[in-house]
Amino acid sequence: MRKFIAAMLLGVIGSASAQDFSGVEITSTDLGGGLYMLEGAGGNLGLSVGPDGAFLIDDQFAPLAGKIQAAVAKLTDQPVRFLLNTHWHGDHTGGNAAFAQAGAVLVAHDNVHARLRSGSSNAERSVPPAPVDALPHLTFSQSATLHLNGHAVHAFHVERAHTDGDVIVHFEEARVMHMGDVFFSNGYPFIDLASGGTITGYIDAQKAAYERADDATRIIPGHGALTDKAGLKESIDMLEAVRGRVVVLLMAGRSEDEVVAEIDLSDLSERWDGGFINGETMIRQVFRSLQTGR
Ligand SMILES: [Zn+2]
Repeated sequence: MRKFIAAMLLGVIGSASAQDFSGVEITSTDLGGGLYMLEGAGGNLGLSVGPDGAFLIDDQFAPLAGKIQAAVAKLTDQPVRFLLNTHWHGDHTGGNAAFAQAGAVLVAHDNVHARLRSGSSNAERSVPPAPVDALPHLTFSQSATLHLNGHAVHAFHVERAHTDGDVIVHFEEARVMHMGDVFFSNGYPFIDLASGGTITGYIDAQKAAYERADDATRIIPGHGALTDKAGLKESIDMLEAVRGRVVVLLMAGRSEDEVVAEIDLSDLSERWDGGFINGETMIRQVFRSLQTGR
């Protein structure tokens, strides 16, 4: 299990040194209003372009910074002025130093700064402290609003969801939302318990996003295809189903392995299994999270 988690984390959190990025192409999807979703390797990117400069949400892995800058340059002649990290994982923050050196102001939740600065080491992985120039310049604890390119961009913190530093970004009038890794549209989500994530916080965060969205809102997930409020509802239903099944057995005193053996996720597996997190890992992370009370 440990080996499996370690291999899986390489994919989700990202150890850039272990991967070859030479074949990666950055593609863009036009969402209207100067907003784009960019995809390459690692977390999905959000982009706003316009007269005030480019605003980028997340930056994938360090070796991709040049390709991302080239993709942005195809859509605007303005440099990236602000860059927001949805959370601290390396597949969302790897390009920070390169963008900062090119003049971008890095924006994130307080805990993103703290975790990047200290790094982290536990049984499953070791992440060294980030270089000083990769650290966010401007951090906040609850929410921030950026006024640029004609948008009021609401960035709001959701507590203890995928990590303890998650931010969801909402272009309310343009009806575009970037949820970072508080949403995987392509499979069971990864909940980073070692970074303060919890299943209950994760569900609450998705519900908060659901309340803000309307039927026309395009939702950029951290990983997986562009989706919408109906797609988010499907995810909330799945998470509540898994949590409900685990709670019953946890309350009955079953061990983690017994819970894994007894729970049947076959009704969910066709839609949700096959991403980074398989059914067994999903059950284990939900069990461990609930053991901590959340
Ligand atoms: Zn992540």
